[in-house]
Amino acid sequence: MNHAIRKSNDLGTFEHYESSVRSYCRSFPTKFHRASGYQMWDVEGKSYIDFFAGAGALNYGHNPPEMKKKLINYLMEDGISHTLDMASEAKEAFLVQFNKAILKPRGLNYKVMFPGPTGTNSVESALKLARKVTGRQTIMSFTNAFHGMTLGALAVTGNKFKRKGAGVPLNHAVSMPYDGYMGANTDTLAYIESYLKDSGSGISLPAAVIVETLQGEGGINVASNEWLTGLSEICKRYGMFLIVDDVQMGCGRTGSFFSFERCGIVPDIVCMSKSIGGYGLPMAITLIKPELDQWSPGEHNGTFRGNNLAFITATEALSYWETNQFAEDIAAKGALLRNELDEIVAKFPELKGEARGIGMMQGIAFEPGIAERISIAAFERGLIMETSGTDSEVIKIMPPLMIDRDGLMEGLLLLKNSVENVVDNKNTVLSH
Ligand SMILES: *Cc1c(COP(=O)(O)O)cnc(C)c1O
Repeated sequence: MNHAIRKSNDLGTFEHYESSVRSYCRSFPTKFHRASGYQMWDVEGKSYIDFFAGAGALNYGHNPPEMKKKLINYLMEDGISHTLDMASEAKEAFLVQFNKAILKPRGLNYKVMFPGPTGTNSVESALKLARKVTGRQTIMSFTNAFHGMTLGALAVTGNKFKRKGAGVPLNHAVSMPYDGYMGANTDTLAYIESYLKDSGSGISLPAAVIVETLQGEGGINVASNEWLTGLSEICKRYGMFLIVDDVQMGCGRTGSFFSFERCGIVPDIVCMSKSIGGYGLPMAITLIKPELDQWSPGEHNGTFRGNNLAFITATEALSYWETNQFAEDIAAKGALLRNELDEIVAKFPELKGEARGIGMMQGIAFEPGIAERISIAAFERGLIMETSGTDSEVIKIMPPLMIDRDGLMEGLLLLKNSVENVVDNKNTVLSH
């Protein structure tokens, strides 16, 4: 084997040296080289439209110019890079701008905690804090939830395959049906409340409820505004904290900065990561209502809480939110996206597709097997798009939010061609 780095798409190095746990490089088998905005290029110069956006870490696109400029200037001036959780000018600028551009205009009051730099770090800190403040152990979570890969987060995650990876019992959590899980005619909140109020239910009062307002990994399941409001009321009635995991749906993915703005609830704790750093740089925050901020200094920590490079780009990213323009653009593109998806569903009735989602987090659910083949066909045509759901039955469309109309339409054309291709080959492939 030739290990020299060549301008070829030979993936031998990864197969040879990298753990078999690698996954996205199997779905998108090429070697990437550069990226800009909503486009990516591989080493052979083939271009791809990105309908994946780093699983939501690239809401502002690849290498956004204003953030890049700030980052380069900071590096050139020997701006401090790593500070654990020491005070730094870059962190101060982020805290000031986050309050000014995000919290104050929304009438929200949260303390900002910097856990380690990943989504699962934020989730762990939220669960820990809820248990500490209430003195209770159980956390209520939902069917098809996804909250991360460390043990605490995995215990509140639904997926059987991911849970099995823990290798130990995942406890102190109780899974309840998400909105719509028991069919359109069953009110899952009434079901949940029946467990809470009955002292014979076998469920001890949870410290908190952790919820995604829209389940991305779980198959693009949207909780209704009424359901989320009702859930928030149940939390208040029973003295449980409401934790919204906005790791993927935050930073504008569903149209507003926080995904819960559409229903007006105010969570006790909010988890954010993925796009909060703006440039795809690792960063996470946990937002805590001031009265819950009962941590002792250092009681929860982490070496990489002071990623100042991320603070620089995160601060710049918040300027997208200084006016309503960005949110309005997301809404307009989201409506366009929904129209196009409805058209695809209508054009191929034999696939029995169902369009789902809101804002720039949409997709189409199919019978198992179809979505994966569409994703493969899309990749061959230059479109990066993943699947979600327990059986990978949903194509998941989440372009960078800054994508323009032309880019969106170009990607959707590739998607239509891919669906057509799968339909044309459906009978032949299925007969194998
Ligand atoms: C991605 C994700 C996480 C985990 O984030 P990591 O950075 O991968 O640890 C947690 N919750 C949700 C909703 C996510 O989408």
